[in-house]
Amino acid sequence: MSARVLHKDASRWRIAPNLKDYAEVRRDFSWQQARAELDGLPDGGLNIGYEAVDRHALGANANKRAIRFLRKDGRREDYTYAQLKTATDRFMAALRAAGIGKGDRVFALAGRVPEFYVAALGTLKNGSVFCPLFSAFGPEPIRTRMARGNAKLLVTTGNLYRRKVRDIRDALPELQQVVIVEPQANGETRPGTQTWNAFMESGHEAVEIAATRGEDMALLHFTSGTTGRPKGAIHVHEAVVQHYVTGKYVLDLHPEDIFWCTADPGWVTGMSYGVIAPLVHGVSMIVDEEEFDAEHWYRVLQDEQISVWYTAPTAIRMLMKTGVELTHQYHFEKLRFMASVGEPLNPEAVLWGVDTFGIPFHDNWWQTETGGIMIANFPAVDIKPGSMGMPVPGVLATIVSREADGHVVPIGDAKVEGELALRPGWPAMFRGYLGEEERYNKCFVDGWYLTGDLAMRDSEGYFWFVGRADDVIKSAGHLIGPFEVESALMEHPAVAEAAVIGKPDPVIHEMVKAFVALRPGYAVDEALRLEILGFARKRLGAAVAPKEIAFLETLPHTRSGKIMRRLLKARELGLPEGDTSTLESPA
Ligand code: ATP
Ligand code: MG
Repeated sequence: MSARVLHKDASRWRIAPNLKDYAEVRRDFSWQQARAELDGLPDGGLNIGYEAVDRHALGANANKRAIRFLRKDGRREDYTYAQLKTATDRFMAALRAAGIGKGDRVFALAGRVPEFYVAALGTLKNGSVFCPLFSAFGPEPIRTRMARGNAKLLVTTGNLYRRKVRDIRDALPELQQVVIVEPQANGETRPGTQTWNAFMESGHEAVEIAATRGEDMALLHFTSGTTGRPKGAIHVHEAVVQHYVTGKYVLDLHPEDIFWCTADPGWVTGMSYGVIAPLVHGVSMIVDEEEFDAEHWYRVLQDEQISVWYTAPTAIRMLMKTGVELTHQYHFEKLRFMASVGEPLNPEAVLWGVDTFGIPFHDNWWQTETGGIMIANFPAVDIKPGSMGMPVPGVLATIVSREADGHVVPIGDAKVEGELALRPGWPAMFRGYLGEEERYNKCFVDGWYLTGDLAMRDSEGYFWFVGRADDVIKSAGHLIGPFEVESALMEHPAVAEAAVIGKPDPVIHEMVKAFVALRPGYAVDEALRLEILGFARKRLGAAVAPKEIAFLETLPHTRSGKIMRRLLKARELGLPEGDTSTLESPA
């Protein structure tokens, strides 16, 4: 646990945060009141697409820029809220004309192109269920997800169709329609195949937005597959209340902000915060079609005058790897708030934010299952680097221990490790695992939702991530969280990224083994290995420090950017690798 505290200084705020006093907002908060800040549908229903698009298009924000797409060819393509409404109305009407109705599943596999966003919001407005797919998936992960999700319609691009969909289409009998964005379908003549333009043309007759209720299914998100076969998490329209609240208090969105969420909408972060939350707040957001590149990202931050930036530890570590000198060529005058999610954020990375941008990264924690941010560092609250912060107003989080009899017991004492648990009832909570009812039910014990992550809480109420329950190492009677060990390794100047696992050991049960990727300019040799081992021992003590280090060119990541420790472990032990459908690039 880092002793350092980054104090927030109100005199340096460029804009007063939406949450000025954490305790007060938390005390007075109610989800009902938050819900009342949204419009809702005239009959008392709720629809994510309406809150994100229509209510702005029908009001003062109609001509405000909603989304700027930075296209691969360098073009900027802007949509106002009014234009977004016209396009999503069209898509909705086209779905209706094609017989795709309430509850039907619409999938998209298209990368970060405008049509993907129009399809997502149009599908929600139609009362159909949107299921995003990450465009780098291969044919098999695409097929299994579409089969499990009963895909009726797919929006994709000509290239992706040819490379990944054409050959699996016969294995998807439920799939009625494929809508193909340019370039064209390369001569595909199968019935049920249309170009995007023809499909949109078929939606020329205006239709009314679907009368969805808060509990109607809206989104299907597959998890990252870090711990095993990805689960399909079911989300409902009510989730928009959470997206709104966390956009307000955690991301601190203000009307004049230009917001950039770097997550791909193939994952839950890219939908909840790369589409829904910013639009519900009526801000202007950026969507970048390009893949990660440090210089390009700095240019986007500068040229697009980003003020609020939401990104992930893997990306931050990659930026850190390129060095701080590069950043000196750019100016980030408008940047006022930075947040991170997806993996534990090492204290090193939080402080690098201060050195590089003059402001820290604010870590926050949540899962596909929670649908929205649960625990966070807030703009007005002091940061303890390495801590994921405190529960969002309206969210009750605690640490529990699982007893031998199957019950769970909240741990009252500070700094005692246990499983992170949440009190069900927040609006964005998943309503099921698709086709896995028993698995879903098992997540709830004695009135708590059990997250599968281990954490602890300090005496001031800050939560500290320890590791995933599956990844925790039991060594000579100690429980060792991988995050603490990895963060210590990251402090060594040669280390770009680190992952640790427990390796079975006849004497101490498991020994800590580290896998390390080096920064450019460092060569693998015995002296460096010994130096890093010694460095870690000094920081962590002999009981916790790694006993072995292996150097790897890169560490295996999921496509959503998480280190796959289970794969390192399987390889180390010569065991089967399990489901690798989300592995970034088979190494
Ligand atoms: P699967 O459930 O399929 O194994 P996954 O858990 O990686 O995959 P996601 O729902 O995308 O799928 O990721 C949520 C998990 O990511 C959390 O349970 C936690 O382990 C990790 N995580 C997210 N944010 C943070 C954070 N700020 N600090 C530490 N861990 C985090
Ligand atoms: Mg998970």
